[in-house]
Amino acid sequence: MKIAFIGLGNMGGPMALNLHKAGHTVQAFDLSKPACDKLAADGVAIAASATAAAQGAEAIITMLPASQHVEALFLGSNGQPGLLAHIAKGALVIDSSTIAAATSQKVAKAAEAEGIDFIDAPVSGGTGGAIAGTLTFMVGGTAAALERARPLLEKMGANIFHAGAVGAGQTAKICNNMLLGILMVGTSEAIALGVANGLDPKVLSEIMRRSSGGNWALEKYNPYPGVHENAPASKGYTGGFGTDLMLKDLGLSQENATAVKASTPLGGMARAIYAAHSIAGHGGEDFSSVIKMLQKQG
Ligand code: NAD
Repeated sequence: MKIAFIGLGNMGGPMALNLHKAGHTVQAFDLSKPACDKLAADGVAIAASATAAAQGAEAIITMLPASQHVEALFLGSNGQPGLLAHIAKGALVIDSSTIAAATSQKVAKAAEAEGIDFIDAPVSGGTGGAIAGTLTFMVGGTAAALERARPLLEKMGANIFHAGAVGAGQTAKICNNMLLGILMVGTSEAIALGVANGLDPKVLSEIMRRSSGGNWALEKYNPYPGVHENAPASKGYTGGFGTDLMLKDLGLSQENATAVKASTPLGGMARAIYAAHSIAGHGGEDFSSVIKMLQKQG
């Protein structure tokens, strides 16, 4: 299939590579030259612009930071037309970015008016899952559009869920990430407490992993350096899921909670903690660096 892939960051880069390896004709694009160069070195064709990538594509996949990037790309900005004007009728758009459900619905409506199918398909599984092709996709859209997307999603992920109509994938994703943000703070607190008492972080983490406190961070993404060799914590908190992206997701969950009058006290507290961590200069580091706020320094 001829695919345009736009947004080649920590997640989009390996996802586009998996589609290329599966034999699809991928035309990739990112505003960042280093991101393009990295993928070109793996043999993926780089287009000169998003418009050039989308030319004649049967599927357009986006993996961008936030709502404003997705809206500006598809609907246009500063009086310039968006990408929808350049996409062939009958094509399928798969947006895997984590954004506001309302933005997904706005873009989907405009796509429908142009005869283009749209699904929101945010993911979970981290950069490890993107590289291994084992992501979980949470899809919002019609069952028919999901079936069109499924062969592509299967090359990038291991679990595909139909959450509901357009936007429902995003709602599922912000519920998941609110829990992830909370559990990373809790896991960091527990490890920092043990270490302050002289415990070995590896031994303590293993005890908790096999006990009732076991969770995804303790399994795969330990916030303490040196516990998991491949986790961002062991790579100077680089290459994972940025603190500012987590902050964005916690903001989305709190906006949503306000709209539906839901009570999410720990989600609100987690948002405040990541905000303080970002203000302290850690916004570009992986979100597991939040342990630095809770550790005894020196
Ligand atoms: P990233 O910052 O590493 O990559 C985003 C890329 O988008 C950058 O390379 C940037 O240059 C590019 N970009 C921005 N605007 C663009 C435009 N108009 N045209 C082309 N390229 C553009 O972010 P990421 O970690 O890959 O995350 C992407 C999305 O996936 C976010 O919404 C994030 O919340 C979500 N997500 C991330 C993870 C993770 O572990 N990193 C996991 C699940 C979901």
